[in-house]
Amino acid sequence: MKPLIATSLVSPQRAGPGLAMPSLSLVACALMVLVAAGTALVNSYYLLLMTFAAIYMVAAMGLNLLTGYAGIVSIAHGALVCVGTYATAIASVRYGWGFWPSAVLSASVGLGFSVVLGLPALRLSSWYFVLITIAFTLAVTAMLNDLRGFTGGYGGIVGIPKPSLAGVRFDGFGLFALVGGVAALLWWVMHNLIDSRIGWALQSIREGDVRARANGVSTARLRLFAFAFSGAVAGLAGAFYASAKGVVTPEDFSFDFSIFFLFVVVLGGPARLSGPMLGVAAFYVLPELLDSLKEYRMIAYGVGLLAFSVFLPEGLAGAIARFDDRRQARRATSPAATLPRDAGAATVEPVRGMALAIRGLAKDFGGVRALDGVSLDVQPGSIHAIVGPNGSGKTTLLNMISGFYPASAGSILLDGAEVVGRGPTSIARLGVQRTFQTPKLLGELSLLENVRFGAYARERSSGLEIAFRLPRARHEAAALDAEALRLLALVGLAGRAHEHAALLPHGQQRLVEIARALIGRPKLLLLDEPAAGLSMGELDELGDLMRTIRRMGTTLIMVEHHIELVASIANTVTVLDQGRILAEGTPEQVFSSAAVVHAYTGGAR
Ligand code: ADP
Ligand code: MG
Repeated sequence: MKPLIATSLVSPQRAGPGLAMPSLSLVACALMVLVAAGTALVNSYYLLLMTFAAIYMVAAMGLNLLTGYAGIVSIAHGALVCVGTYATAIASVRYGWGFWPSAVLSASVGLGFSVVLGLPALRLSSWYFVLITIAFTLAVTAMLNDLRGFTGGYGGIVGIPKPSLAGVRFDGFGLFALVGGVAALLWWVMHNLIDSRIGWALQSIREGDVRARANGVSTARLRLFAFAFSGAVAGLAGAFYASAKGVVTPEDFSFDFSIFFLFVVVLGGPARLSGPMLGVAAFYVLPELLDSLKEYRMIAYGVGLLAFSVFLPEGLAGAIARFDDRRQARRATSPAATLPRDAGAATVEPVRGMALAIRGLAKDFGGVRALDGVSLDVQPGSIHAIVGPNGSGKTTLLNMISGFYPASAGSILLDGAEVVGRGPTSIARLGVQRTFQTPKLLGELSLLENVRFGAYARERSSGLEIAFRLPRARHEAAALDAEALRLLALVGLAGRAHEHAALLPHGQQRLVEIARALIGRPKLLLLDEPAAGLSMGELDELGDLMRTIRRMGTTLIMVEHHIELVASIANTVTVLDQGRILAEGTPEQVFSSAAVVHAYTGGAR
């Protein structure tokens, strides 16, 4: 047996070919910060305007995580800001709390309400969540007047103090600088989160959670995190809002205040770090400056929405990023292009292959019996091919082993443990990885990031360590980046490591999926038609890749139509036909069987 651990260490360049040049969005945002700071010095009106712009930006960044990245649309964000505002107002004015304890209270209250609103959304469809958030917004608005003893009713609450720290009182420009600092800190935290397994998992939930669950992501926990984060940020923004205003009344929180944040995120550019800032500049600062526009704000939003949906469907930040992509596409490919396949060979540590035993497995889809009493044994560390005509149940079988479809009857044992009844997340965490017949990569992410995401269940750094780039998170990310790059080299795609996955043809996307699966160090790897869409040369390389995987010890089950490939590498072949096992044995035995030849030539291929 060859040595399994490759010694070649490559330090991957995280920055894609583009990042040598600053991105246009960043330049635009830096300019805006300068302009904001400059105008804030001119007079007190501009100062207040810019302070509120910074506060709205903080709030919008929270919503961007929930709606932009995780794809969960909420109308209640403004209402959560409102709740945070009143928490600080009440705590500081009625109970004499200082600003900072009040702000912590506001963030906690925002977090609490957001999580409670989000709980039903873990089970119900997203439409219910939208309705729940509308109802919440209306309830909060009504409550402000009804709970007069608490909220001061129409009169509101007067005399909310400014923050102070170590004897310094943040007022005027100081308050603007403080909020700006908070916004900058939050931007950095968002950047760290988005560029990590947490951000990738959030985005994969947005794209339908199949990919996330196959990677071992607990989607409910992650959604709760998104609710908690966005709620806490909204509450915190509320605390600053209260302090900046000094007086709060229900009039501050009309219904359009809630929708405002959704507009800012959607039109500014969802799932873009610079989106909230661009959105606030275009949809708050600009209309305020052009005074005449202010009265027509709702109309302007409506027209903006229509125009954007036609011309800039990805919002301001998205449009700028597209332009940037084109500008930078002309630049050279990344240095990883020189990384040879061998550098990646056997980069995964050897694993103990998993044994699979299936007994009497059946699956009905309504009236269709897709699998009918399938029994199958797969030896640890072997390559086991599943072949059969289209519609014979091959993909269904993989979906049941990986937990995506519940069984109608029968049993599936992985290393002797029953897994029927377990979901995909839990089965993935046992060491089962898979690829999909239709690849499910995150198209906006680079190949490297997609592969890195496969290590989700292996990563030890906590969300806090990731958010603040603490040492463990940094080291782990660097090590996994290097490993991901070697695995991309193994599948022959290291040279394109920093390209968007969506740019690859399907055949190669499936190769990326194999690399993504391998970084999870699978004991059992399920491949659904890996050879489809590959050229002859790539087919040979795929065969080599599978032999390498077998040498690592991983048990490999592959559904494949390509008979020559199967014949050259499989230890055992099972033939499915109409949901039943038609034949089983070595490739020579199976492919010489008359029944098999008949199923293939007479069947619906
Ligand atoms: P193969 O991968 O061998 O081509 P499949 O496992 O995809 O076949 O499908 C087997 C049978 O099960 C087909 O008749 C297909 O229509 C049916 N089937 C597969 N998945 C579903 C589903 N999610 N809902 C309903 N029917 C399905
Ligand atoms: Mg199939």
